[in-house]
Amino acid sequence: ANQKGGVGKTTTAVNLAAALAAAKHRVLLIDLDPQGNATSGLGFPRGSIDQGVYQALVEGTSFRDLTQMTKVNHLFLIPSTADLAAAEIELVSMPKREWRLSEAILSVKDRYAFVVIDCPPSLGLLTINALCAAQKVITPIQCEYYALEGLSQVFQTIKKVQAAWNPELRMDGILLTMVDTRTNLSQQVEAEVRKHFPSQVYQTTIPRNIRLSEAPSHGLPILMYDPSSKGAQSYQQLAKEFIKRQ
Ligand code: ATP
Ligand code: MG
Repeated sequence: ANQKGGVGKTTTAVNLAAALAAAKHRVLLIDLDPQGNATSGLGFPRGSIDQGVYQALVEGTSFRDLTQMTKVNHLFLIPSTADLAAAEIELVSMPKREWRLSEAILSVKDRYAFVVIDCPPSLGLLTINALCAAQKVITPIQCEYYALEGLSQVFQTIKKVQAAWNPELRMDGILLTMVDTRTNLSQQVEAEVRKHFPSQVYQTTIPRNIRLSEAPSHGLPILMYDPSSKGAQSYQQLAKEFIKRQ
């Protein structure tokens, strides 16, 4: 989660999920963003699917009836559809509105080693549902001058969710994305973020890599699109570090 747009949330959700699946863990990826980038990035173009996480949240449809197989072994998807945009408003007046995703996951969680949730770029009810359902948060930040801006809002929201609903919730790690090691700026930003959050920044960083930005248009995670790329290697490294932190 990160309310800032375009920082690498979806790229990380898809490719971390695929890397965990490649290590033979059963993984469920939930696309909780009305933009549906994780869904299209895994080969389900906009409009090709008529039911998704919206039906679970608002209509109470079981995840068992909404789960899609993907081209990646062991990786399953709860897709996002266009109607999810309305859920943010429709949920407001519903009972247990913060818990609807958590309850949907309950009926299938025994089937998976990991459930990965891709959040929209806001801290509204959809993201609150994700934080109530989750044990850990990963916050990607783009390695640029304003990287730290907005991080305090993520931490405040986590605190609020911990206090009100989900005391188990933890920040697992801050992930530096789109790192360009050739520039001084990238190095300075990385040093500053590590100074502020010494134990929370993942050792693994994700380089700026053109192959990572091409992969979604082929409907494939980077591990299938170009397994030898820097991007593929770095997300496999992240999966290892993520598992080690458990
Ligand atoms: P939103 O807030 O809109 O959901 P997001 O945080 O999910 O955005 P992404 O969609 O993952 O961010 O990334 C934004 C753009 O940057 C995309 O076009 C993506 O392909 C590209 N991108 C992400 N990570 C990298 C990277 N390491 N190298 C190159 N391009 C990247
Ligand atoms: Mg996204």
